[in-house]
Amino acid sequence: MGRIIAIANQKGGVGKTTTAVNLACGLAQNGQRVLLVDLDPQGNATMGAGVEKRTALPTAYQVLLGEADISAARLHSEKGGFDVVPANRELAGGEVEMVELDKREFRLKAELVRVAEAYDFILIDCAPTLNLLTVNALAAAHAVLIPMQCEYYALEGLTDLVATIKKVKQKLNPNIEIEGLLRVMYDPRSTLAQQVAAELKNHFGDKVFNTVIPRNIRLAEAPSHGLPGVVYDRASKGAQAYLELTRELLDRYGIAVGAG
Ligand code: ATP
Ligand code: MG
Repeated sequence: MGRIIAIANQKGGVGKTTTAVNLACGLAQNGQRVLLVDLDPQGNATMGAGVEKRTALPTAYQVLLGEADISAARLHSEKGGFDVVPANRELAGGEVEMVELDKREFRLKAELVRVAEAYDFILIDCAPTLNLLTVNALAAAHAVLIPMQCEYYALEGLTDLVATIKKVKQKLNPNIEIEGLLRVMYDPRSTLAQQVAAELKNHFGDKVFNTVIPRNIRLAEAPSHGLPGVVYDRASKGAQAYLELTRELLDRYGIAVGAG
């Protein structure tokens, strides 16, 4: 069964989607079978994988409401080399409708179980909230990957997320762990960023990935071309950092690094 990793941080714009899309692609380039589940009504991971969110049907919305099977919703990202369960704004309503449903926290998990054997990694791109959609991701996941910017309030923002993960662990998913904290949009010239990056490492030790993702314009440009950054400009510093992260993750599981 594939390892299910939720990419979460309730803070907006911290690099969750960029991490989800580039890691999905990096893993695929190393021969891994990858499914990327877009669990954000913004549909950014869908678009970033080169899938048109407006016409996609069925999407995560129908899957979570039990109106479509997950295998009917997944599409293949040709450029990315991985499968995608798309999302669009319809999913925002789904969050509300799900509240009424039976086993509402386990809707995603029940669907992922059906396809988990077909993948080595399943990445879930969460929305910037700790709502029922994100709880579904955390209830289904083996682990959470938390992208963080190295700024003054970084640690403070982590408190709510860690509290939510603890609650999920107690009530819904006893085995959930933190896959790692990932320092993103890093500016090596900023003294504050250097200090916060070091503080994170001191505080969380080997829960912090060694790989640091720099601020890099090519990563920000890539989605407008419907491409992961690692495909759009593989030689860029940002793409190289995500490929390094891929190697670091694969190394943990003793998986030999291939073409990447
Ligand atoms: P949201 O909370 O809205 O879902 P997010 O956490 O998924 O946001 P992203 O969409 O990945 O964050 O990134 C926010 C913005 O920053 C995007 O415009 C993205 O292209 C850009 N960005 C992400 N990572 C980097 C980076 N390392 N360097 C430069 N720009 C980046
Ligand atoms: Mg996002």
